[in-house]
Amino acid sequence: MGDDHDDVVRFRQRLGLSGLIDVHTHFMPERVLRKVWAYFDSAGPLTGLEWPIAYRHEEDERLALLRSFGVLRFTSMLYPHKPSMAAWLNGWAADFAARTPDCLHTATFYPEPDAERYVREAVEAGARVFKAHLQVGAYDPNDPLLDPVWGLLAEAGIPVVTHCGSGPAPGKHTGPGPIGRVLARHPRLPLIVAHMGMPEYAEFLTLAETYPEVRLDTTMAFTDFTEEFSPFPRAEHGRLAALGDRILLGTDFPNIPYPYAHQLYALERLGLGDDWLRAVCHDNAKALFEI
Ligand SMILES: [Zn+2]
Repeated sequence: MGDDHDDVVRFRQRLGLSGLIDVHTHFMPERVLRKVWAYFDSAGPLTGLEWPIAYRHEEDERLALLRSFGVLRFTSMLYPHKPSMAAWLNGWAADFAARTPDCLHTATFYPEPDAERYVREAVEAGARVFKAHLQVGAYDPNDPLLDPVWGLLAEAGIPVVTHCGSGPAPGKHTGPGPIGRVLARHPRLPLIVAHMGMPEYAEFLTLAETYPEVRLDTTMAFTDFTEEFSPFPRAEHGRLAALGDRILLGTDFPNIPYPYAHQLYALERLGLGDDWLRAVCHDNAKALFEI
């Protein structure tokens, strides 16, 4: 299995964790995933920066790897970049969850007239988590077509992992402002800010301090790769510690340009302690998803 596998197992064993819960992993229809990989191969979100995908394997191999790492639960984050795509993605994700019992049934949406209907159907079909991507989708989260969607998710208490920060590339509707206005209308929305909100780390920590149902996922944050262009400010370490029950392990597996274990090492070297690591890598998600 190699060094990467051994490093992940050592990390878990040192903490006495039987497994990890990773709230931000990507599984999607094969031809969509190929397009995502081609995008990272060409320029990627960061023009001029190499982004060699570490885990470019067949789906069954990617699943076997996650399980060998001891990842007990993970997600199939997928998202539309245009209208009339979300319902089809949701169909694929429901099928994937049905044949992959350790994957939390994931769904998505786009501002379009039938969004409320297919989101409600996904919830009724057992969706446990949603994904929204404001940069790729290039939509305003305050679009009136989405208001019933946010309301429905807030009422059902279903978390929505949202790429709302302006990193690695900004969008017209990224940053704490637009999603902050959604939260002002739906203060109970279980929002999970992807990538710790990079690069607006401090502003998104403030949102989490303001709204008790707001959480952040660690995806790619604190790694050598990200620290190069979007370093997490040392001055905010105290707030990371204080929000230790609201931070969730996320990795972006398989689309990462470094070994899986590096994300874990990047969390460990923050020096926030073993209790913090256990909460972030397992306990917080276990409680949130009632696993
Ligand atoms: Zn991602």
